[in-house]
Amino acid sequence: MNKVDIKNLSLEELEDFLQGLGKEKYRAKQIFKWIYQKNATTFDQMSNLSKDFRNDLSGRAFVTTFGPEVEESSPDGTRKYLFRLADGACVESVLIPDEGRNTLCVSSQVGCAMGCRFCLTGSFGLERNLSCAEIINQVCAVKNTQDIRNIVFMGMGEPLANLENVIKAVKVLISPDGLQFSNRRVTISTSGLVPEMEILGRSVTVNLAVSLNATTDEQRDRIMPVNRKYPIQQLLAACRKFPLPSRRMITFEYVLIGGVNDSLDDAKRFVKLIHGIPAKVNLIPFNEYEGCVYKSPEQAEIDRFHKYLLDRNITVITRSSRGGDISAACGQLKGRLERPLESVEAETRGKRG
Ligand code: SAH
Ligand code: SF4
Repeated sequence: MNKVDIKNLSLEELEDFLQGLGKEKYRAKQIFKWIYQKNATTFDQMSNLSKDFRNDLSGRAFVTTFGPEVEESSPDGTRKYLFRLADGACVESVLIPDEGRNTLCVSSQVGCAMGCRFCLTGSFGLERNLSCAEIINQVCAVKNTQDIRNIVFMGMGEPLANLENVIKAVKVLISPDGLQFSNRRVTISTSGLVPEMEILGRSVTVNLAVSLNATTDEQRDRIMPVNRKYPIQQLLAACRKFPLPSRRMITFEYVLIGGVNDSLDDAKRFVKLIHGIPAKVNLIPFNEYEGCVYKSPEQAEIDRFHKYLLDRNITVITRSSRGGDISAACGQLKGRLERPLESVEAETRGKRG
């Protein structure tokens, strides 16, 4: 018999699983609380369950957990966590501090199949989806030592290409019996998979960020192949329909790439495109990496774009390149993950020492 990892189950699925064993439904909430609120990793710790029940569970299920293999911190407080998964694959999570309201950026896939031209993760292709447990365990591992206020799915991978596991993970994150995050504090970022956006909106109430990154189809086709399937107007129509948590706005992410999409005309088109959509905008200056063909924008262009939006009463934030490499970690994995771990550790030691 294949044992089940409880962290791969939503509360409803755990209830079904337990009912299949002839157990009461409310036991699922008890087990969830042990795992997500008291960090239990064995059934033996669950003292409000009978010994027989615990033995029975141990024979049929288990609880995975993992810790970071490498942890790095930047002088500004940003912390990067490298997790090695059971099959040897690696993913990163990044904790971004903001006056005590930490945001954890999690990965949803190893690599990514979407092939955005400016993204290092995209250049690796897709290795595999993360399981629900592997998504949740990134949060559990960091939560052991840090307070986390917000969760953003902006690490490695396209969350909506791993929809089932991401929805399940979000359910555990926002469950009052699970990790107890407010749904207003969980954000899924997508490159624009329109049908999946609709399914996500029907399945859970959560914030949405959309990586627009261009203002004409011609331009977006070139840097984001997904646009050939779901062009800008179709994507914006899906944004208009998306059921957000109350009083929340869609976030549009816009990676400013030097000489590609950072002109005043782009800013003008951008404002027209999002007109009428309750939205806020994250401008992300392109983060250069070894071998990339694109360039970071000039500060003057960043400022001009930012000001144009601000002057039209659009809520806009220009994401700073924290620690020099935060956007590299959040949305594009460093090629160094592909190197043997020893060299990563040596590098880390070097930085700390
Ligand atoms: N796949 C999802 C979420 C992960 S990418 C998505 O595309 O939305 C998270 C963000 O990082 C996206 O907005 C993406 O456009 C941005 N990004 C990717 N590569 C980048 C780079 N080299 N510099 C700056 N931002 C980048
Ligand atoms: Fe994938 Fe997002 Fe990178 Fe595009 S930007 S390749 S969707 S991770």
